[in-house]
Amino acid sequence: MSQYRAVKGTKDIFPVEIVSWKHIESVIQKVAGLYGFQEIRTPVFEYTELFQRSIGTTTDIVGKEMFTFRPEENGRSITLRPEMTAGVMRAFIQGNLAAAAPVHKLYYIAELFRKERPQAGRQRQFSQFGAELIGASSPEAVAETIGMMMQVFADLGVTGLRLRMNTLGDLDERMQYIRALKEYLEPYAAELDEPSRERLDKNPLRILDSKNPEIQAMIAGAPKLRDFLGVSAIEEFEKVLRYLDEKGLTYVIDPLLVRGLDYYCHTAFEVVSPELGAQDAIGGGGRYDGLATQLGSKTEVPAVGFAVGMERLLITMEKQGLLQHLEPGGPQVYIVLQDSALTAHAVTLCDALRKAGIRTLMDLAGRSMKAQMREANRISAAYALFVGESEMQTEVYGLKNLSTSEQESLSIQEITRKLAPSNSAQ
Ligand code: AMP
Repeated sequence: MSQYRAVKGTKDIFPVEIVSWKHIESVIQKVAGLYGFQEIRTPVFEYTELFQRSIGTTTDIVGKEMFTFRPEENGRSITLRPEMTAGVMRAFIQGNLAAAAPVHKLYYIAELFRKERPQAGRQRQFSQFGAELIGASSPEAVAETIGMMMQVFADLGVTGLRLRMNTLGDLDERMQYIRALKEYLEPYAAELDEPSRERLDKNPLRILDSKNPEIQAMIAGAPKLRDFLGVSAIEEFEKVLRYLDEKGLTYVIDPLLVRGLDYYCHTAFEVVSPELGAQDAIGGGGRYDGLATQLGSKTEVPAVGFAVGMERLLITMEKQGLLQHLEPGGPQVYIVLQDSALTAHAVTLCDALRKAGIRTLMDLAGRSMKAQMREANRISAAYALFVGESEMQTEVYGLKNLSTSEQESLSIQEITRKLAPSNSAQ
């Protein structure tokens, strides 16, 4: 085996897997279109400050998971994007999209980079599909965003997912709660595990996320976020839930659900998959009204979004048997040559058929006729086109349907008429 290996935490995606990716991507595109979300693509790297400012320096992502480098000595620091929301919001502000329309619905399918410890469902390069609804964060906007995400899962046939919902209140309410939580936890500081102790200072909300049973027991007696919420935050949340009910979506309310990133407010949500192990979150999101002003917008821009891990979605679909039926689209025609002396003629035939829009392949390795037939079957070609000396003379070829074994003698014009996309369902 070669000494050159893919970097730990990264994966190659081979053609057999691409079929699954394309399938998921096409469903995302279709559903996004139904809801009026348009695709956005932003650069793979951004200035580091963008992520520090938006995600927050107290988060794990900014604290220890970013791939950061300086392309020029003494130049500005650059980071491979660890998430998409910051870049999309930066693009929204920089591109002055607000001037064109008050509400923008954007979606993406993108590669992200986090220096996490690789394990099942956790990579250092991974992909997310996600959406950002920028310019509105009314309960109907929140419900519509969640509805779009859930429809992608439904259209892919994924079952058993659990949608967890919570509200974090507005920024003030959240800050007051954080203070109270900190006060409650400080006397326990010595008993906290290492990650929670670190969070106590920097980001105590995240302690609520802890999977450690001892910490969970400690949290059981902690002040509840709900007690810090004003009437309007609660009413907003209830409206969101009502819209979800109307959409026929089921959910559980989880008062301990907090999102890792600093910029969330009000509704936060997460989707967990029963098919995943320790890393069971398949996606999540929420409202982030404060982000635009943090990034320099003069006016507040309400927004809501989500991100779903593509690899975890694939693992879930694989386990639910939703990918087996997908077949790579094989060629329509595989040219089988009787004699390699006819190669030049086959090259011309290939060109003619491809120009007519017919997916055509020929042998490129001088293999025997038998080997060519085996290849045509292996790659699931729909037809074999036989070319021998007499076919070349008469320009009438044997076209064999490889699933029915029926064979016809046809000219190139007739084959084109039969198989070209506008004439045939093939
Ligand atoms: P986050 O941006 O952290 O809220 O993550 C949203 C989703 O992205 C998660 O629910 C996962 O499905 C996926 N995800 C996050 N980090 C990773 C990772 N390191 N490897 C694979 N998927 C990830």
